[in-house]
Formats: sequence, C-alpha cells, structure tokens
Amino acid sequence: MDRRDFLTDLTRTAALAAVVPNVWRVTTRPRLADDPFQLGVAAGDPTPTGGVLWTRLAPRPLEPEGGVDGQRVVVTWEVADDDGFRTIVKQGRATAVPELSYSVHVDVDGLAPDRWYFYRFRSGDATSAVGRLRTAPAAGATTPLRFAVASCQHYEQGLYTAYAHMAREELDLVTHLGDYIYEYATIPGRVRQHAGLEIRTLDDYRRRYALYKSDPLLQAAHHRCPWIVTWDDHEVDNNYAGSFGENGMESDDQMRLRRAAGYQAWWEHQPVRVPRARSWADLDITRTFDWGALARFWVLDGRQYRTRLACNGANDVVPCGDWADSARTMLGQRQERWLTDGLASSRARWQVLANQVMMAPNDAENGPVTRVSMDQWSGYPVARDRLLRAIADRAANRTVVLTGDIHTHWVNELHTDFSRPDRPVVAAEFVGTSISSGGDGNASPGDSQSARNPHVKWFANRRGYISCRVEPGAWTAEYRTVPFVTRPDAPLETPTRWRVTHGRAGIERL
Ligand code: FE
Ligand code: CA
Repeated sequence: MDRRDFLTDLTRTAALAAVVPNVWRVTTRPRLADDPFQLGVAAGDPTPTGGVLWTRLAPRPLEPEGGVDGQRVVVTWEVADDDGFRTIVKQGRATAVPELSYSVHVDVDGLAPDRWYFYRFRSGDATSAVGRLRTAPAAGATTPLRFAVASCQHYEQGLYTAYAHMAREELDLVTHLGDYIYEYATIPGRVRQHAGLEIRTLDDYRRRYALYKSDPLLQAAHHRCPWIVTWDDHEVDNNYAGSFGENGMESDDQMRLRRAAGYQAWWEHQPVRVPRARSWADLDITRTFDWGALARFWVLDGRQYRTRLACNGANDVVPCGDWADSARTMLGQRQERWLTDGLASSRARWQVLANQVMMAPNDAENGPVTRVSMDQWSGYPVARDRLLRAIADRAANRTVVLTGDIHTHWVNELHTDFSRPDRPVVAAEFVGTSISSGGDGNASPGDSQSARNPHVKWFANRRGYISCRVEPGAWTAEYRTVPFVTRPDAPLETPTRWRVTHGRAGIERL
C-alpha cells in the first residue's frame, strides 16, 4: 500500500485518526525501495572539537525526492574511536525532511582536538558507509597540515580517477574551490539524459548533485577526510556575476530565483556550517577555518557579490569600457573588508585564500596589446591591486592563494601591483587543475605563456589536483596529474614540486 492510499484509509477509520499526525510527522522505520545511503557520507568544516557530518537519504537518487515517499525520516548517527564502532563517543538522531531533500547535517561538538574519528549513519535497517573525520589542532598548536586542492569535476567530460589517487594519500583535509557540478552538459558521455539543456529549478539542481555524488571515486575522497567547500559559477550559471547571468537575458528576479535553487541544492549536498539566510538566494558561505596557529583559511565567495563583467565579458583587450573603474568589485565591500581586516588581526603563520578565479594576470596575446579574461581577477584590476596591497601590508610572503576554475595547473607569483609588474612579490598562487573538466588534456608545457607572463612559473594542461604540506617554516605544493580521464585507471604522476619559505618572497622549484 503506498502512502497516499494508506492515508485515505486512515481518514475513513475514525478510531485510527488520532495516529495520523504521528504517521505524518516522522518515521523511524521508513519503507525504502533501496539502500538510502547511495550518495555516501561526508564530513566538513572541522573545528578543534568537531565538524559537520553529512548524508542524504536517496534510495532512487535520480527520481524526484530521491525515491523517498514524502515522510520525515529519523536518521541516527554515530561517531566512534574505531572503524568497527566498538567505542562510540558521540551519537544522536536527526530528522531528514523533504523540504531539504532528506539531507542530514549534524554539527558534532565535544570531540578531542587533533585526532581522527569514524562516523556513520543508520536509517531503518540500512547503515551507511563509514567516513573519517579529523578534528583541527587546538588553538596555538603548529601541527603540520597535509591537504589537497580540488575543483571542476564535469561529470560528462571525464572520470574521477584523480579522486581515487587522492583517497590513497594521507591527507587531513580537502579544499574544493567550486564547479562541483555543471549546470550544462555538452558531451554526451557517461549519461545522455542531461545533454544540451541547462538546469534551472531546485529539482534539476538536486538531481544533478545526486548524479555527481553517485560516483564511487568522489565518495571515496569524501569518506577519507573532511572537506572545506566553496562554490564557483557552475553551481548556478556559467560566468554569472551577482544577479547577472551568462547570457544577460534573465531579469534580476529570475537570476535570484535561479541562485536560490542552486544555492539551496549546494547547501543540501555539502558538509558545511553556514548560517541560513532569509532567502536561499542570499546564502553567505564566507567563513574561516583555523588549523591551530599554523594556518587560517579564508573561504571566499567571488560570485555572489561581484560587479557585472566588464567590456565584452570574455577575453578582451584592455583597457576597455569601465574595466578600470575603482567602484568595480570582485568580493563586494563587506567581504573585502572582512578579509583585509582579518589579515591584519590574524596571528596564524599562514593566511590561505580559498579563492575561485585566477588572481595573476594571464595576457593571452603576443605583442604590445594585453588581452585578459573579464571573468578572472584580471577583469577587476583595481580590486585586485587593492587586495594585493593589503596582503603586502599585513601578511606579505606568508599568504597563499588557492585557485580553481581554469582547468589547468599554474604556479604564479603575485606582485603588489600588477599595474607595475616591477613591484615586489608578496604572495604565492597555486592554481589547481580540474578533476575531470576538459577531458584528457595534453603534454604542452605552455612556454609561450611564460614569455608574456613572467610571473607564471609553471603551467600544465592535465587533469589532477595539488597536494600541499604546510609547516611553520615552509609550504610545499606537489602538482599531481593523470595522463587521461576518458579511460579508467590512469596512473598518478607528480610532474613538479614547489616551495614557499615563510617570510621570503617568491616560489622555489624543488
Ligand atoms: Fe570549471
Ligand atoms: Ca568556473
């Protein structure tokens, strides 16, 4: 009997009417068509005493409501010292509701700092996979940190082999810099049902997350350690800026509705601790994380508050239009002040910017003219120089900018002022390539790029990620690549390694 028939029967039976509210509100014994934990589990936003544990009930991930039948469902969670769950240190119950696509976010507290825990969920007879949570070191500690930088995982453009390798590394954290999903699908590859059309509604975005999160290699990387996640454009719409969409055809209202759908689905599918807003369209995901006294991570949102793209909105010759207008902003005034004030007050050894688009300029044209991308920081040159001067004043040569978006690996030195490239180097930018977006890539060393852009120290057009080791005196970045993503089982390669010495200008090749 399905739920609709069941309720109809109940209303015919006066003696049973009293139980209807309970049946309706919540069940501890859901009747589910299949394993509800097919999207795996995740942990994120670690603190010294806890972190956020995530799952979503979805017995039929690509069906509306993930195949749950509309009831609210009780989910129990457990945190243990051991992966056999013999010593459970925390446990509790959460309710998965249809309004939030049966996602579960548990903000665990009361754990010990600087150690590993295991967690899992149960619902009815089903038990989830086991994930690992590492708590951050206590305030003041300088425990070294190992973490990976990931971004851009277009499902149809390649396999997530890089995540299989990442899951084998000894990592404390993963930072994901956005393009976790794509709102379009250009190459009918692994799935065909989404090709061509852009998604716009909450249900569309939910189904897109369900598709991506069904990948076992992505799940393996989530199960391995906590993640710190931000978003870029494709979580909503390619190259959007504030309430301006890619094609400029949508009204302000339409873009806000689309943002609300994209932001809600993002929240439902990520292990994040961010305050809920009155409207999902205004969800504020900017936040900080401390790894003891070693590093402070600034999780930035370079999409929601930015000024509309200048000039032709793509690659354009500069100067042009209002490109150099000082009122144009990438982060918005409030976020920019929060970041620059914070750089002055933070005592952490390293300041880390979890950033979306490339901060270093990339002049794409030979000869005397300069052509740059309007979607990158190069499209907001006054805001960029303002931020770099703040870094120079407050955290010179102990600031590392982590960047995604561009689907290629880069090592960039950041100068105080790119309008005067003779100015000193004050920060390092490590740009991590895509996990899968763009397909196999090639072995081009990109030398011509370096001639036009002397601050670019290395470049590669391969898929992969960056593996970082952070210590009080030095930051090492190992660039990982896979030679192909259109076939399974690509081996892992480490074509280059770089080091930033705390307090010293420049990036050194190892
Ligand atoms: Fe991307
Ligand atoms: Ca992007």
